[in-house]
Amino acid sequence: MYLKSLTLKGFKSFADRAHMSFEPGLTVIVGPNGSGKSNISDAILWVLGEQSAKQLRGQAMEDVIFSGSSARKPVGVAEVTLVLDNSDHVLPVDFNEVAITRRMYRSGESEYLINQSPCRLMDIQDILHDSGLGKDTHSIISQGKLDSILQSRPEERRALIEEAAGISKHKRRKERAARKIKSMDEHLTRARDISREIT
Ligand code: ATP
Repeated sequence: MYLKSLTLKGFKSFADRAHMSFEPGLTVIVGPNGSGKSNISDAILWVLGEQSAKQLRGQAMEDVIFSGSSARKPVGVAEVTLVLDNSDHVLPVDFNEVAITRRMYRSGESEYLINQSPCRLMDIQDILHDSGLGKDTHSIISQGKLDSILQSRPEERRALIEEAAGISKHKRRKERAARKIKSMDEHLTRARDISREIT
């Protein structure tokens, strides 16, 4: 599996559609200060489901939408598509290529798609998780992140190792299941109350 391409439109400084193709192996993106290099890694984080504006170097999530320049008006929607080559089937889907898209409108509305089909963020997270790629898998180390890892407390470091080892996925599923059980219990109690009232 490798990152095959990235397409940005209306994302941060990329007002127009920008398409980048990558080959397996090392890729280096170079450019003058402020030319948008970090915006590209922000786009990768964002399309993988990042929910924190701070992690994307903004104040609010809306800051990812191109906000205009001296020559251009702001746009109403940001869209990023990341294509992964899956010919080795590391990702648990039948496709040889997996395109993940995230779209966000200025109204705050968001959409996620896998190979052009609408899906939930959870579906993307589930597909990516065992691959070692994903917003919490530390596959993207941004500026300043390395320092925070080195200075982290033992329990934070443990969380990092659990994420890398794939344990966190099961913890999240367990928590999700526990929430469902709790909600079912509440429904059951309510149903019993109603049944008692009727009989
Ligand atoms: P450096 O080498 O200094 O780290 P860089 O190449 O990584 O720079 P970025 O931080 O990716 O540059 O890009 C910064 C530029 O992106 C700034 O000019 C900033 O105004 C612009 N920018 C960020 N968000 C938006 C937005 N929502 N709309 C328009 N421009 C934006």
